[in-house]
Amino acid sequence: MAEGRTFKRCSCRNSDGKALGQKCPKLRRADGGWSYRHGIWNYQIELPPGPDGKRRGPLRRGGFATQDAAKDGLGQVRDLLALADSGFVFTHPDGNRLHPQHISDQFLWLACLAGLPPVRLHDLRHGAASLMLAAGVEMKVVQETLGHTSSAFTADTYTSVYPQVATAAAEKTAALLFGKQDQAQLGQVISLRS
Ligand SMILES: [Zn+2]
Repeated sequence: MAEGRTFKRCSCRNSDGKALGQKCPKLRRADGGWSYRHGIWNYQIELPPGPDGKRRGPLRRGGFATQDAAKDGLGQVRDLLALADSGFVFTHPDGNRLHPQHISDQFLWLACLAGLPPVRLHDLRHGAASLMLAAGVEMKVVQETLGHTSSAFTADTYTSVYPQVATAAAEKTAALLFGKQDQAQLGQVISLRS
């Protein structure tokens, strides 16, 4: 993780009209420290490659009156980068992961405040999967959404919902075969010999 740095720059130009930026001699005191009066505070931090994998230039922001203000700005960017880098959905502001039990406890508490019956965070996963299946979403899509390795496992897990889905699928197929007039009888056993 890039630490970044704060520095001063100014708007002085040399005799050719070229901006000196960070190179102006007035920015440094005789002892090498930063001048108290000259220049404006900035920060700079290296950015990780973008989502497309392409390299990005450093992020620079300026216009801070004090070094502390520039350091604050830099700290916020560093926190955001850590957050994006952690790969976790629920994190502390610095990107460190929250303890799973803490999330579960908070969720129970929020559900209680919202007047919901005691529902666990993990139940949302089952709820979402059951609703998807009941809505007719393909087993393969539900499997991939849940991150299951096989759709057989997904079907086994949601056996309570799957028969309804299978019935609906059978009814649709029957409607296709027998036409609309028979839809009123869908769901009944039809003898193919009659
Ligand atoms: Zn200058």
